[in-house]
Amino acid sequence: MVAIFPGLCHPSGMDLEALFEAINDEELEPNSDLAVLREILLSVSLRKNFDTRTMKRFGELTGKAHQHRRLKPSSAEIEFELVGISGQLRKISEFALQVEDILVTVDLSRVKKCEGDECEALFIDESKNKSRKWCDMAHCGMLRKSKVFYDNHRRVNPVPSTKNKSGVIE
Ligand SMILES: [Zn+2]
Repeated sequence: MVAIFPGLCHPSGMDLEALFEAINDEELEPNSDLAVLREILLSVSLRKNFDTRTMKRFGELTGKAHQHRRLKPSSAEIEFELVGISGQLRKISEFALQVEDILVTVDLSRVKKCEGDECEALFIDESKNKSRKWCDMAHCGMLRKSKVFYDNHRRVNPVPSTKNKSGVIE
């Protein structure tokens, strides 16, 4: 029998796509629970201390989530599930536990904010040498690259100077 470890593609074994999609939403409501989770990861990415209020609210969110967390019965692997909550509360509790797991299990220098101009997206850099800079190479990465190319190109081949009427280069 072949053992399947579905989580192994991610270092922490978590599927974080939904979490990051939610906290990177540009229309994230300020002061919402999701905004608190974003603030935690943003502080990590900026190597900044958490502010007291964020810490307090994060503690409440994870505390509530832990009250509903149970070890999944008859599971071959160690797995947890949330019982007794549903809907939005369940979603935010799952996210809060994931953020907590990130803080505990992920190399925090891999938690990054996109370097794209005007992009606020957070992501986890899973590249071998931690070299990832952009949330999305196809978007922010290409925008930046084309800008660098344009700048370099101009430096190598400066725009020809305009000549005045007598033909002297100004
Ligand atoms: Zn970006």
